Amino acid sequence: MFLIKTTKDLEIILNKQRSENRKIGFVATMGALHNGHVSLLERSKVENDTTICSIFVNPRQFNDKNDLLNYPRPIEKDILMLEEAGCDALFLPDPDEIYPENYLDAPIDLGKLESVLEGAMRPGHFKGVAMVVKRLFECVQPNKAYFGQKDFQQTLVVKELVKQFDMPIEIVVNDILREDNGLAMSSRNIRLKNEQQQNAGFIYTALKNLNENVFKMPFSQAIEIATNEILQHEGTQIEYLEIVDTENLEKMEVLDKNRKAVVLIVVNYFGVRLLDNLIIGE
Ligand code: AMP
Repeated sequence: MFLIKTTKDLEIILNKQRSENRKIGFVATMGALHNGHVSLLERSKVENDTTICSIFVNPRQFNDKNDLLNYPRPIEKDILMLEEAGCDALFLPDPDEIYPENYLDAPIDLGKLESVLEGAMRPGHFKGVAMVVKRLFECVQPNKAYFGQKDFQQTLVVKELVKQFDMPIEIVVNDILREDNGLAMSSRNIRLKNEQQQNAGFIYTALKNLNENVFKMPFSQAIEIATNEILQHEGTQIEYLEIVDTENLEKMEVLDKNRKAVVLIVVNYFGVRLLDNLIIGE
């Protein structure tokens, strides 16, 4: 696996790949890799000739300084995992490479996408995400880029980004990889104690129950039942639990055969933010 630290070296290596007409697949991460990340790499390997992964803990998408400081950075373990997964190249830039002094960023207007749900909880977060993804896309210029449904709202932001800047990149959204108990894999899960990790499957259980209830009752009632189910567990607070349209995140009240619905949730469990979601009503 190539380990690339500068945009210059990246350009040299990728130009060679492009001159040989090789299709490039790209997976952007913040490291602390787990099998969820690996599932994106595996899909990219099947669908492209060269797969490149980036690890960059983007300071501009953290509205909470402590969260940024405490973000896990096990880089040696990450490199081993990438090699094992058969990743062709790792782009591991310093912040100066991504945000050089003379870099002028075009403003990105994400509209409602950045002000609701996760955007409302983390002001400025999606502007930061859009900015770094745009910059990474400019550096890598992949044919396809792979993102997890786990960060549902982020996938809409990235699709909006490529649309606004007319970038010829196909955005592929991959399923959520879960632990055996249903807990969505996340780099932040290691902040939970073992016992808490083992218990945390109740979030997915509540989402699956909700998916059965929406066929029998209005969404508000199904949400109320799921809320009570989750809050029964010690150490839980719900930041949001909403059923929205998968295209525009507008709130939905009942099933509608012309619209696809997703339930989006963040549970704060013993101080750790756990994001999850499930497409419902199918
Ligand atoms: P992160 O390192 O958390 O920024 O995540 C990098 C990419 O991996 C994003 O596209 C995430 O949505 C995706 N991802 C994170 N967790 C999972 C998971 N459990 N299953 C599938 N993809 C994931």
